[in-house]
Amino acid sequence: MSRFFSARYADLTPYTPGEQPQNRAYIKLNTNESPFPPSPGVAEAVETESRRLALYSDPECVKLRAKMAEIYRLDPDQIVMTNGSDEVLNFAFMAFADEAHPLAFADITYGFYPVFAQLNRIPFTEIPLKSDFSLDPADYIGIHKTVVLANPNAPTGLALPLSEVEQIVKSNPDNVVIVDEAYVDFGGESAVTLLDRYENLLVVGTFSKSRSMAGARLGFGFGSKKLIADLNTLRYSTNPYNINRLTDAAGQAALAENDYYMTNCRTIIENRAWTTEQLRSLGFRVLDSKTNFVFAESPQIDGGALYGKLKEKGILVRHFDKERLKSFNRITIGTKEQMQTLIETIKEILGG
Ligand code: PMP
Repeated sequence: MSRFFSARYADLTPYTPGEQPQNRAYIKLNTNESPFPPSPGVAEAVETESRRLALYSDPECVKLRAKMAEIYRLDPDQIVMTNGSDEVLNFAFMAFADEAHPLAFADITYGFYPVFAQLNRIPFTEIPLKSDFSLDPADYIGIHKTVVLANPNAPTGLALPLSEVEQIVKSNPDNVVIVDEAYVDFGGESAVTLLDRYENLLVVGTFSKSRSMAGARLGFGFGSKKLIADLNTLRYSTNPYNINRLTDAAGQAALAENDYYMTNCRTIIENRAWTTEQLRSLGFRVLDSKTNFVFAESPQIDGGALYGKLKEKGILVRHFDKERLKSFNRITIGTKEQMQTLIETIKEILGG
């Protein structure tokens, strides 16, 4: 730390992103990216748009929001586009949580929540998941806090039924409930359908997983027009050009080819079922995932040891050192071939 670093941030523990190795070609199953490339129209749109890079991007993303509004049956003013969903999460924490509206989220969930809370000096409570890693909605009913739910959750992969999400939203009318749906397209139930009934609901999503665009950084928030206006106040106070021209064009092209992505989601869901079954037949405990990853532990090998051996053999998975998680690994679902290689490699490791 330099002697110039503000004392405001001296205690901040930053988020640790998953490894993005540049030196070796791994089978990369560690950051829940899609194994499929973006749809064909995306490359073409980016190439064309690159000729206009001398000009600033559209701060309102008018065309992109119009397409989103059509697909999700919303008014464009109920939509904000952001630089990955991390950005809309940060804006939402800034906008809707403070000393008077402290945050509540699970003890095992997306690791960025406590970081954004600390960054913005918002008090937060981490509510323990049950011993089977499921979330008890009763813990959040009438809690009088700004609630953040990852649904489906990460790294567990477990999903909460929409009726339970609704109870949480309904019972906290004076607080915003943020539902992070980064993985919803792989089998979760979206809370988008609740938006016209609850002014305190913010739904967050991303193009990073089901739409194969993690590298483009495109996320979004859906809410009442007033909630979205608040987020825009912060966006315009930070970086109105948060969506660059190439990402805006890529997003529009992706939405024009939505069927391609929905087909890929079905393939991932099939590969997930296959991988789960294979791991279970090798003795693993695998949680019931509604995402593009599985969370699995083996009685035969420690989570950290399995992570290390897979890495030596060219397969990257995600291991967390946290007490309740360290016997597990989070494994992204890739192509069938990648999953076959994974299972063969695990068999070798367990056999030798
Ligand atoms: N929410 C959850 C639950 C996630 O796992 C991730 C991905 N790490 C994000 C949000 C953020 O993704 P992005 O910023 O790429 O949209």
